[in-house]
Amino acid sequence: MIKPDAVENGHIGAILEKINAAGFKIKAMVMTQLSRNDAQEFYAVHRERPFFGELVDYMTSGPIVAAILEKDNAVEDFRKLIGATNPEEAAEGTIRKLYAQSIAANAIHGSDSDDNARIEGDFFFSGRARY
Ligand code: ATP
Ligand code: MG
Repeated sequence: MIKPDAVENGHIGAILEKINAAGFKIKAMVMTQLSRNDAQEFYAVHRERPFFGELVDYMTSGPIVAAILEKDNAVEDFRKLIGATNPEEAAEGTIRKLYAQSIAANAIHGSDSDDNARIEGDFFFSGRARY
């Protein structure tokens, strides 16, 4: 998911270029805006964390782009491509190093397991076109 700060700052195109250049195939994509309920559900694992309110405020602050990506070893390779959660700690050339504003507004989300990729893909795309 390309998060609200990156959409607002005009980075959709550059980020998709990097995703393609790294060998990912885009299987489905949508631009939409999360409701508070959506954001709370999407990040439910972080419900008890002190930053949860800030995270929900931020994730609902503007449109996002959600996509399903395909590649061998996709989860691990995508997390390498996006870089560390905190952009100050992200490696050179990663999407967060290049485009994130802060640890909260960090430009992009990547699923952390194949199971969560399936759940998160269904969150955005079940009931839409097949992928
Ligand atoms: P994501 O799940 O969005 O790909 P991540 O797996 O790198 O990010 P998580 O620990 O899952 O990191 O945190 C989810 C999101 O919550 C982060 O991407 C960031 O937007 C926000 N977040 C994490 N830690 C903080 C913090 N200390 N302060 C504010 N926001 C935070
Ligand atoms: Mg995460």
